[in-house]
Amino acid sequence: MTMVTDGDAGGIGQGIRAPVPCRLCGADSTPMFELRLMGRHQAGFFQCTGCGSMQTEQPYWLAEAYADPRPLTDVGIVARNMDLSMRVDLILSMLGVGADALCLDWAGGNGLFARMMRDRGWNVFLHEPYTPNFYVPFHSAELAGLERADVVTAFEVLEHLPEPARDTEALFAFDPDILIVTTELYAGQDRSWYYFGEDNGQHVFFYTRKALELIARRHGRGLITAGSMHFLLRARPLRCAYGMAEIRALADLLGDPDRFHARAMERMSDHMRHPFRHALHDHQEILGRLQAGEKPA
Ligand SMILES: [Zn+2]
Repeated sequence: MTMVTDGDAGGIGQGIRAPVPCRLCGADSTPMFELRLMGRHQAGFFQCTGCGSMQTEQPYWLAEAYADPRPLTDVGIVARNMDLSMRVDLILSMLGVGADALCLDWAGGNGLFARMMRDRGWNVFLHEPYTPNFYVPFHSAELAGLERADVVTAFEVLEHLPEPARDTEALFAFDPDILIVTTELYAGQDRSWYYFGEDNGQHVFFYTRKALELIARRHGRGLITAGSMHFLLRARPLRCAYGMAEIRALADLLGDPDRFHARAMERMSDHMRHPFRHALHDHQEILGRLQAGEKPA
């Protein structure tokens, strides 16, 4: 990026930063403010004149931001995965996803979500390039040779992508009918917004609804957003068994959080009458593979 030092003109921080191209849509992005990430890196934040998203300057601090793979400040990791697994279980059942459908949790960290979903009977694999696969060692996408997936999930991932135009291509390379992501939408929040993640420096791109629409349109998907949860769906699925009626029912349910919660809890309650029924199936399979000399990923 270009930095022009010109104290007289009264720019951002100590200098003026020139506009940079948006890493999603390519339009000019205007310098707005700076934040001191991880207490060390003075980083410029830029708002796009095209898609409206906010982004940091080209992030050069990421190796430092990810030096420890443990969720040092992410104390919500378990509660969030419990909540997401309950919601996604209900959503997949509503969209006619079968027990054999291939599901991929992209950038799924240590595999906690994948494990919880496998426990609920969904055929979920883990893709994760950085964090060791702790929870689903025999169900990594790489070991399974997964090249496509009917369902892809990517939770709290998009805001970490340094090059969203390029990096989101990887999600669609799996050609999913259903892509479910979570990220908090940027809608003009000021510099004190917690999601800018000043303490950990891992969040580098903040999408507007318009930005998600752009991504969906680029890939021929329709967009449904509900709070921080977003669905990029094929209107006519290639492999899953849903139609417009199911999409409408999902959109209605997303608009009624109490009913959504109650129905997800109902399914969870039913599952917990026999909590290991699907885990035991995985256990048998893994024993067989270990005995055959296969190494976990
Ligand atoms: Zn943009």
